[in-house]
Amino acid sequence: MGRAKKIGIAGKFGTRYGSTLRKRFRDIEEKMKKKHTCPSCFTRTVKRVFAGVWKCKKCGRTFAGGAYLPFTAVGKSIKRTVRRIEEEKEEEEK
Ligand SMILES: [Zn+2]
Repeated sequence: MGRAKKIGIAGKFGTRYGSTLRKRFRDIEEKMKKKHTCPSCFTRTVKRVFAGVWKCKKCGRTFAGGAYLPFTAVGKSIKRTVRRIEEEKEEEEK
């Protein structure tokens, strides 16, 4: 025993969770650190500012996305929901 393991961000979760879950956290961390493509200027200069907020270094655009990745299926469904709420509001105003 007493074997040191390099497990990155997942280390703070200790041994409370299984190794599969810890590996998944490490995968997410690696994806987070990668640069992502900007939806405005299409250059790969988008970096995570903090959870859910991303910023393009080239055009300076800040945008909301997923906590760990700028574009997620969840984000798309939120956009859809927001649009539906806005449409419903317009209906009420008539
Ligand atoms: Zn940009």
